[in-house]
Amino acid sequence: MDSNNNVMVFIEVRHGRIAEVSLELISAAAGLAAELGGQVEAIAPGHRLEEELPRLGHYGCRRVYYINDPRLTHFTSIPCARAVIETIRRHDPAVVLFGATTRGRDVAPRVASALKCGLTADCTDLKIGDHTIKDRTYENVLLQIRPAFGGNIVATIVSPESRPSMATVREGVMKMGTPDPGREVEIIPESIPFSDDDFISEIIEIVREEKQVNLKSAQIIVSAGMGASDPEALGLARELARILGGELGCSRPVVDAGILDKEHQVGQTGVTVRPNLYIACGISGQIQHRAGMSEAKRIIAINRDPHAPIFALAHYGIVGDVKDVLNKMIKAYKTKA
Ligand SMILES: Cc1cc2nc3c(=O)[nH]c(=O)nc-3n(C[C@H](O)[C@H](O)[C@H](O)COP(=O)(O)OP(=O)(O)OC[C@H]3O[C@@H](n4cnc5c(N)ncnc54)[C@H](O)[C@@H]3O)c2cc1C
Repeated sequence: MDSNNNVMVFIEVRHGRIAEVSLELISAAAGLAAELGGQVEAIAPGHRLEEELPRLGHYGCRRVYYINDPRLTHFTSIPCARAVIETIRRHDPAVVLFGATTRGRDVAPRVASALKCGLTADCTDLKIGDHTIKDRTYENVLLQIRPAFGGNIVATIVSPESRPSMATVREGVMKMGTPDPGREVEIIPESIPFSDDDFISEIIEIVREEKQVNLKSAQIIVSAGMGASDPEALGLARELARILGGELGCSRPVVDAGILDKEHQVGQTGVTVRPNLYIACGISGQIQHRAGMSEAKRIIAINRDPHAPIFALAHYGIVGDVKDVLNKMIKAYKTKA
């Protein structure tokens, strides 16, 4: 076992391709590893990934432990967690990151429980820093930052007395770096002594439902809050999104009220987006909504309340009735087109 300051990322593969969240985490890990004086490593359980894994190098990964087994073609929790636990035990990284995805949320707690180490879910930021408690200072620990108490405080969580420090991060929260095809990754085959019991569950059939809305990769999002949730205002928001070639987003109460599906929801418990333009229509701008859209390059807010918190974040603020403003914007864009 070689103890080190390396940062390891659990790699997810979907339909034969490395998931974007894994590339985002590799990019984030590169910054953390540089501060720790370590390197970025990855754990990739799967099968026939030889052509895909070199992409990890482009984002800054130096070494990938590849657990290649045909029985890992489709994800199941038990063998995957086993592979991750064994690999961490052998290579002893300082930090391990997982996507806060269905798979990451399944595997990470199993790993934390087996290794008796700390795990913070749904981090919105990760840093390296010192932590002092009573008269003891822990140097260069992972500061795991996430909203707590319904988003009313931002908590920094540390687990300095166990190793590794582990965190899950939701898709879209970390910025994906620019790939450099010149950077190479070392692919190291890792053999795990699986038993038949590890494969007690079997995938018989996979049924895929295609997403109707793709907020994450949309460059323009027109988002409706409770102030734009009646059929007329929502229709106008949808129409503006269509004219601009964007997607329709919304705040959580609009989903909770059954007006739009969850896949439209932006925010802490929805999707995190980074579009070029975000038009917030009748959205107050509470911290849980801002958590999902504050990284938009340009934000236009429409609200009849001049003191709405969204205006503190917006690059352009329009105080007025959402239907009036949307009608004018639609007319203006139609005339321009
Ligand atoms: C644990 C937790 C997680 C959460 N996760 C999320 C999340 O992921 N995403 C999210 O969005 N929220 C989330 N929330 C809810 C969040 O706290 C807010 O309640 C929510 O964002 C408010 O939505 P809203 O701005 O649409 O509604 P409101 O707060 O009701 O605001 C409506 C706004 O519309 C304006 N308005 C009303 N009528 C008009 C009009 N005719 N013209 C112009 N403006 C008008 C009002 O001035 C007001 O500012 C979460 C809350 C908790 C506790």
